[in-house]
Amino acid sequence: MPISKNTVVAMSYRVATADGELVDQSQPGDPLHFLYGVGQIIPGLEKALAGKNVGDKINATVSPAEGYGEHDPGLDLQLPLDAFPKDAQKQLKPGFRFMAEHPTQEGQQVPFTVHQVEGDQVLVSGNHPLAGQTLNFQVEIVSLRPASAEELSHGHVHGPGGHHH
Ligand code: ZN
Repeated sequence: MPISKNTVVAMSYRVATADGELVDQSQPGDPLHFLYGVGQIIPGLEKALAGKNVGDKINATVSPAEGYGEHDPGLDLQLPLDAFPKDAQKQLKPGFRFMAEHPTQEGQQVPFTVHQVEGDQVLVSGNHPLAGQTLNFQVEIVSLRPASAEELSHGHVHGPGGHHH
């Protein structure tokens, strides 16, 4: 049963930047389970896995455009502290996340992360931490099965490696 839309895929993986810096990897015996074809993983990796079978090993290089997007300098902002609501100001530490409108694309909500607070200035970024990175994936397909009707209606995997509810 090769991978196609609505296949539940279990895969072990390792992903590194073009410079060879490890970004993430699955732990031995604990593969990632996901529903294929519904955008749960980045588009470039989804393409590379199409038609693959259990036991296949795949090396895929994914460009920013098919990964986490290009780095958008317009989303790296320095804001005055008083641009934030009073009760939010105390919570502004590196790693604090909030939603805000894209500075140039009206109506588009972007998740921002606080990077630094310096006096009354706050450095924030709406770029994904991996934006602008070319990523190299090493994947091995561990198991495949068709998704159940219930999984398809929920849009995610149930049972081992998935949602329990
Ligand atoms: Zn569910």
